[in-house]
Amino acid sequence: MQMFFKKDNLSVKKTIELEEKLEKSILAEVGYAKTDKELAERFRLKIQEVNDTELSSDTEAALIPSDDSEYLGVIKVKSSYQENLFTCIHEIIHYVFDVGYGKPVSSTFERKKRGKTPDDHEQEINYLAASYSMPYDQMLKAISEYEKSSPKMDELKFVAGLCERYHQSWETVLRRIREVKRIAKEKKKTGFISA
Ligand SMILES: [Zn+2]
Repeated sequence: MQMFFKKDNLSVKKTIELEEKLEKSILAEVGYAKTDKELAERFRLKIQEVNDTELSSDTEAALIPSDDSEYLGVIKVKSSYQENLFTCIHEIIHYVFDVGYGKPVSSTFERKKRGKTPDDHEQEINYLAASYSMPYDQMLKAISEYEKSSPKMDELKFVAGLCERYHQSWETVLRRIREVKRIAKEKKKTGFISA
């Protein structure tokens, strides 16, 4: 429903803030668009696949404290969501921004199913997960190459190429294209000169 869409959207100002926050974080240093497994290893988090009944029905995954001192936290992910790249990346984003690099997890963070994202903070975590997985600069470059292409590159091929490059769904890529274009437009309007 339209109303819900509106409520879901973060303001352009907020998305610019989040992009900057990501740029200054350890994730920029580690490198963008890495897999959940690479990041988990880098941050000493254990990814543990669990039975769907082990987490509540509206939850895909949870970041919880670890009993094993070898790990700083455990990401429990339902087996049915294991293939969804975003599920674990979401938890890793919680780790970086809510727990802090190098610190042990001391409370539980969850990822709710789509449409059950309860608050602004969770939406910001989801935004950061998309932004990390499909970096702003790379996306902007791809979009401007597409827009300048002559003869015009096929739009469906363009989107399909991005889906393949980032291992993301069609819907996720389209959403990210809209976000990146919105930020670029805003920066142009406010006279922000990008490098
Ligand atoms: Zn969450």
